[in-house]
Amino acid sequence: MRRTKLLFCHDRHADGTPRPLCRGWLHGIALVLFVRYVVDAWHALEGAARPAVVAIVWTLACSSLVHLVPWASIRVEELVTRLDRAGIIAICGASFMFPQLVERGICRATPLFSLATVALPCIVGAGRVLLGHGNDSYSVGISMGIAAISTTGFLACYVDTQAAAWSIVTVLLYGTGMLVYALKPFADAPFSMVFGFHEIMHCLVTAGFVSNTMGLQYIGAFCHAP
Ligand SMILES: [Zn+2]
Repeated sequence: MRRTKLLFCHDRHADGTPRPLCRGWLHGIALVLFVRYVVDAWHALEGAARPAVVAIVWTLACSSLVHLVPWASIRVEELVTRLDRAGIIAICGASFMFPQLVERGICRATPLFSLATVALPCIVGAGRVLLGHGNDSYSVGISMGIAAISTTGFLACYVDTQAAAWSIVTVLLYGTGMLVYALKPFADAPFSMVFGFHEIMHCLVTAGFVSNTMGLQYIGAFCHAP
């Protein structure tokens, strides 16, 4: 089959699977808008939010590179895909770890809790993805699941209900996106060659990035308020 290799418009990935017309555009546009926001808002960003925001830029950049560039080599495409997936775990780890590390007493869990429920699961999950061990969906889902459930529980029980609500909204958006990615609805429908389940997942994840950032800003402001 003829392969269109035009930059941003190629119709096949390096491994030969079809590439829908809209794939990658949402994350490409979101990357430009988000970088603009970060540059403008950097000084107003809470310390607890900054590492996660950097990880979001990283993930949006890798995701755009994976989808918009017509990679000739399967190995390079695979490497960028792994960096993208490791970025998703980095967002999760940074989002849950940093408020616990940098904010005042009430928001600070014990080091053992942060290490066991966020740092270790995320390091193991990201390591497995980067080294290509096991199933990526399980590595991402399990590490993020452990960090999300434990930290949301901690926020709800010891910190503040609104902080926990931000966490729940963000986790639901990411979680639904991952579920859509795993179940692949409408995969055979004709419109999926233009806008398919992967693009629906990108929409949910992008909404998750916004809620993630707003939630961290809220938690940062709440935690170091007098
Ligand atoms: Zn994607």
